[in-house]
Amino acid sequence: MKILCDVIVHNRQQPSANYKSAKSTLALGFHPPGGKPDSKLFVILFTAKSKAGTRYQLTDNLRQIFTRFVDEGKFTLSLKNPEIDLQVRCRDVTLLRNFLRAVNVALKGDVQEREKLRLSSLSVTPIAPQSRPVTKLSIARKSDYPSKGLPKTLTHLEILGLQKSRLDSQILYLKHLTHLNLSENAISKIPKPLGELCLVDLNLSGNVLGSDIGGCDFIWLEGHGVTKSLQNLDLSNNYLTHFPLGLTKLLNLCDLNLDNNRIKRIPFSVRNLQTLKSLSLESNELEALPGTLEMIYFDHINISNNNFPHHADEIQQHDFVFVPRISLLQIAARTVIKHKIPYAHPKSYPTLRNCTVPWIVADLLSETPVCSCGNICFDAKIYEICSLASLHYKCIISNADRSILADRVFCTRRCFDKRNS
Ligand SMILES: [Zn+2]
Repeated sequence: MKILCDVIVHNRQQPSANYKSAKSTLALGFHPPGGKPDSKLFVILFTAKSKAGTRYQLTDNLRQIFTRFVDEGKFTLSLKNPEIDLQVRCRDVTLLRNFLRAVNVALKGDVQEREKLRLSSLSVTPIAPQSRPVTKLSIARKSDYPSKGLPKTLTHLEILGLQKSRLDSQILYLKHLTHLNLSENAISKIPKPLGELCLVDLNLSGNVLGSDIGGCDFIWLEGHGVTKSLQNLDLSNNYLTHFPLGLTKLLNLCDLNLDNNRIKRIPFSVRNLQTLKSLSLESNELEALPGTLEMIYFDHINISNNNFPHHADEIQQHDFVFVPRISLLQIAARTVIKHKIPYAHPKSYPTLRNCTVPWIVADLLSETPVCSCGNICFDAKIYEICSLASLHYKCIISNADRSILADRVFCTRRCFDKRNS
C-alpha cells in the first residue's frame, strides 16, 4: 500500500520552525513481513531528499491519527518517538481513506485480516516519477495535443487560441478537472454535461457565445457540478445579448466578468448571487441596473462604457400596470409566501432538509422581483420607475458623466409613493 501525496514533517519540539511540504510517496510495510503476530507496522516516507525512505514505526508508537479533514484530502499521523507529526495531503480522497483503513486494520486487526492486506516489507520502493499522474496541461498549438488524448487525471487544462469551434468532448470526461481555460477560440455552444463537472474556475473569454451561429444555450449553467463549485467565470469578449438566467443559480460565484458583450438588461434574480464580490460589465449596452443589485455587497464593480444616460438627460419615470396572468404555478408560489412555508433554491436543499416546496415553485420565487418592502412582486399591479442606483461596493469603475439608473418594482402604490416621497 503506497500513495503519492504531499507531506510536512512537523517536529513538535520546534513548533515555530518554517516547515514546507514535499512531494512524497508514503508506504506501509510490516517487519518482519507478512503481518505475523510479532510483525510491527511501519510507515516509510520517500521524498526527493530521502530517496532510500525514512521509516517510522507505528505499532506501539502512534500517538494519534487526526482524520477530521479527511474529506478535504488531509490527515495527520502523530508519533511518540520521534516527536513528529506527519501532515499528509492527497487529492484522491478515496485513496486516502483506503490508506487509513489499511493502517487501522494493520494495527488492530487479527492475523488473518492483516495478511489479507498484503502489505509490502520494508524493502518497498517509491512510486516512479513517470507513473505520477499528469494534472496540468496547457495546449497553445495543435502539436501540443497529447497523442493518447487528454489524461483523465487532469485538474487544470488550458486550450488557448486554437480557434476551435467546438468544445472537445474529451473534456466532459475529466472528472477531476477544476480549472478550465478555453479563451480565444471560436466556441458558440457549451454542451450541457460540462455543468456536471465540479469546475472552480472557468474562462470562456474571446469566444462567440451568444452570436447567432448555432444558437446559444446556457442550460449547462444549471448542472449539479458548476452550480455548487464555480467561483470564477469569465465570459468577456463574447456576443451575449442577454444576461443568462442560469448565472443567477451559481451559488458560490465570487467573480464574474462579462466585459465586451452586448448585454442590455440584467434580471432581477441577480439578487441570488449573494457570494458575488467582483462584477465586471464594462462595454455593454446597459441602460439601467436592476434595483436588486443593491442587495449585494461588492468589493469591485465595473460598469463603465455602457448606455447609461448623461446627467443632463431627463430621467423618465414609467408607471406600468402589468396585466395579471395567474398560473397554477404562481398560485402555488403565492401560497408559499402567504403561509410562510420555508423554501430555498433547489440547489441549496441540503441546507434545508425539511423543505417540501417543489423546485419549480422555488425557482419561480427566486426569479420574481422583490419590492423594497421585501414583498415578492407577482404580476398583479406593478409600478416601475427609473431612479439612481445606490450600489454597495469598495471600488467602482464607472463614467463620471453618466447617471447609473435602477429598475425598481413596487408591490403597491403605497410602496411606490414611500420611495419617491
Ligand atoms: Zn412593497
